[in-house]
Amino acid sequence: MKILIFSAFLMLRSTAFQPEPKETLARKAVRIHNAVLTVDTHCDTPMNLFGSDFNVSERHDAKKSDTKVDLPRMKEGGLDAQFWAVFLGQGKRTNEGHANANKKAFDIIKTIYKSVEAAPELASVTRTPEDAYAIEKEGKRAIYIGLENGYAIGHDLSMIAKFMQLGVRYITLCHTLNNDICDSSTDKKGAEYNGLSPFGAEVVKEMNRTGMMIDVSHISDSSLYDVLIISKVPIIASHSCARAICDNPRNLTDEGLRAIAKNGGVVQMCILTDYVKTPDPNPARDSARAALRVKYNNFQGLTPEQEKSGTEEWHKIARDFPQKLATVKDVVDHIDHIVKIAGIDHVGIGTDFDGGGEVSGCYDVSEMGNITLELVKRGYPEEQIRKIWGGNFMRVFRAVLEGAEKPI
Ligand SMILES: [Zn+2]
Repeated sequence: MKILIFSAFLMLRSTAFQPEPKETLARKAVRIHNAVLTVDTHCDTPMNLFGSDFNVSERHDAKKSDTKVDLPRMKEGGLDAQFWAVFLGQGKRTNEGHANANKKAFDIIKTIYKSVEAAPELASVTRTPEDAYAIEKEGKRAIYIGLENGYAIGHDLSMIAKFMQLGVRYITLCHTLNNDICDSSTDKKGAEYNGLSPFGAEVVKEMNRTGMMIDVSHISDSSLYDVLIISKVPIIASHSCARAICDNPRNLTDEGLRAIAKNGGVVQMCILTDYVKTPDPNPARDSARAALRVKYNNFQGLTPEQEKSGTEEWHKIARDFPQKLATVKDVVDHIDHIVKIAGIDHVGIGTDFDGGGEVSGCYDVSEMGNITLELVKRGYPEEQIRKIWGGNFMRVFRAVLEGAEKPI
């Protein structure tokens, strides 16, 4: 009897004092990645859908299909919500050019709805921050719409409310060239207004009034500062990196990062290799791309067939002259830097998948979890990872809607 009692005591002791099995970093990363709402604020996937038979509800091989996003791969990568960009390359700034861009924007929006509504069991087109949290609970993907290039509104301010009604939630003021709204960061002709044009200032005010988020990715430094003077609500950079880490005019300076933090806004880190890490020189690829741009009229005013063959040739050049990709570590170096300069409340992720976004270890949307793993390895706690993966962005999204004249 005594022996029995003693052994029972020993058993109790051994269970009571047994140390918890240590959670590996990989398991911790998976747990956190599944627990937090994950939002990617920029991809150009609608370019693959428009005028093509690409079925977004089927799984594709990233390399064979030259695509980075479909709904099954989003699920695989644990990505809950994504902004699909209605992308318009900067064309002629004439009435005709504006009318064509405007029509194309509406057509792409229709394509997005059609593609997503064909897979109601996998995803829904969403409009408010709360939608993503609700849809995550259903195990589905939330698809939001952004408009990349204010060129599509032409000179008609009422278009902003119209796009808002159709579910567009941000407008990137310009793309790689200056437009009638503002100077771009990459127009070889240089500054045209030294910031926003007078029309651009009205655009910013109207975006505030209607609850449309202002996206400052692509715009020049002086355009950014003009926006910050006028906007009454926080702004976003939907896909932008840190210039101190990779010196490219598309990336934000430390001064710009601090200014966005002061405004309460958020910088969504982009994973396009050229913006993440200064590329090794590759003159053969550069000249092949330059020749292709000439052949396809800088990708302006193309028929759907021309657009398709141009994109195929673009991918072929990438295969023929492969680029050494940046890595997930390089990506998180930018996040570390933005946190250091702007603070943990002002950083997020906007991949630019299907618009050039890719790094080794996060080559397509199915590999998004590797960013979380690297954040965990660097000691970011769950609450900070939650902020990076969507908490910060959703705060801005809500503030912009609440700041509107008629909040939705
Ligand atoms: Zn872009």
